[in-house]
Amino acid sequence: MVQRRPISRPTRVGWRRVQPVSVIKDSGVRATPPPFSEEHEELRETVGRFVANEIAPNVDEWEEAREFPRELYGRCAELGFLGLKFPEIYGGQGGTHLHDAIWVEELARSGGSGGVAASLNAHTSIAMPPIFNFGTEEQKQRWLVPGIAGEKIGALGITEPGAGSDVAGISTLATRVDGGYVVNGSKTFITNGVRADFLICAVKTTQEGGHHGISFLVLEREMPGYEVAQKLEKMGWHSSDTGELSFTDIEVPDENLLGGENEGFKLIMANFAWERLLMAIGAVGAMQRLIEVTVNYALERKAFGRQIGKFQAIRHKVAEMATQAEAARALTYNALRLFYEGHDCIRDVTMAKLVTQRAVLEIADESLQIHGGYGYMREYGIERAVRDARLGPIGGGTDEIMKEILGKQMGL
Ligand SMILES: Cc1cc2nc3c(=O)[nH]c(=O)nc-3n(C[C@H](O)[C@H](O)[C@H](O)COP(=O)(O)OP(=O)(O)OC[C@H]3O[C@@H](n4cnc5c(N)ncnc54)[C@H](O)[C@@H]3O)c2cc1C
Repeated sequence: MVQRRPISRPTRVGWRRVQPVSVIKDSGVRATPPPFSEEHEELRETVGRFVANEIAPNVDEWEEAREFPRELYGRCAELGFLGLKFPEIYGGQGGTHLHDAIWVEELARSGGSGGVAASLNAHTSIAMPPIFNFGTEEQKQRWLVPGIAGEKIGALGITEPGAGSDVAGISTLATRVDGGYVVNGSKTFITNGVRADFLICAVKTTQEGGHHGISFLVLEREMPGYEVAQKLEKMGWHSSDTGELSFTDIEVPDENLLGGENEGFKLIMANFAWERLLMAIGAVGAMQRLIEVTVNYALERKAFGRQIGKFQAIRHKVAEMATQAEAARALTYNALRLFYEGHDCIRDVTMAKLVTQRAVLEIADESLQIHGGYGYMREYGIERAVRDARLGPIGGGTDEIMKEILGKQMGL
């Protein structure tokens, strides 16, 4: 009888187990790069510890369940993470976008779940800023304060079945009536769409005017006629909920108009800068993670009698990944600095979004290749990184739209 050899497999050095590596001697993260200071680095440590202890160990289960517990919002609020950039009078921490950037990057680096990050960030960085920037005091009390406290969850609804990149093409209609509007239409692909308590919703308030006929209304889930039509199944971001919403004769009072009537395009433009920047920052964190995991694996896994990281082909691949990640980080941090200092930064943010979303996808794919068959297995978390990263060149404005913006800026 043939003697069976014990199965030898590499230790799992996937998302949950990996520690910040000391083997990367010059990763670029030890020093405090501009625009961050020592104070931000302390926050990075705090966020990293929280994410590693309270999010990362649960990610497999949440991905399987297709959602994470709603209580996570409350826990993040308790620790102050949902209100980092908002003033203390609203329950925030009185920090800046730089503090938020640390949160976003570290959530991606230590968490290993695009879905958890997407849901939390859609709430804090996509749904709440329009209320803070364009809302009345009363609106801030109604949605920003409970949002920062993790008691109400927000979502932003722009995309419709018939209009994604072409925002001016939306057809959800808010018809003026005495004291408010009656809303009919639908939205799709809305992150947090299934469990959001309030939706910052783009509507047409006039049939004419293209961009100029768009307004924003805050729709609330208990309003009659507001319906979650379905929870969508996706390729990645499994632990985030993505909803399709339908609106039938919803009566929305004037008090729920956010910003001026027909001035919604200003809100969209204001939001895009931070949304795209935070996607770039998240990608920087995810790339760092992937490189750390890959270096660890390449040092551990043996083939033909030596560590695979000692094969020149693998070593060069990792070197290219690290170079690509550092270039993307530099572009992103520079865009963040310009944004933070209040400069015109559309070009830089657009370039950062474009470069980082492709870079993280390529790096995730290379990491999977270096992991061989184990990379293809769920257990190691690398296949999830590939699936999660695939959304980047689509969400928040596609690669093609980023190139259109840049081309037009160059006078073409
Ligand atoms: C998981 C997920 C979460 C999302 N979350 C939200 C959310 O919370 N809120 C929200 O409002 N939206 C959300 N979106 C929607 C997202 O912003 C859109 O998918 C994206 O803007 C693209 O729109 P579309 O899918 O309709 O593609 P389309 O606009 O139909 O584009 C299809 C293809 O045509 C290309 N194309 C379109 N116009 C041009 C052009 N002028 N030149 C060259 N090529 C062009 C596109 O680049 C793309 O390759 C989410 C999407 C996903 C998948």
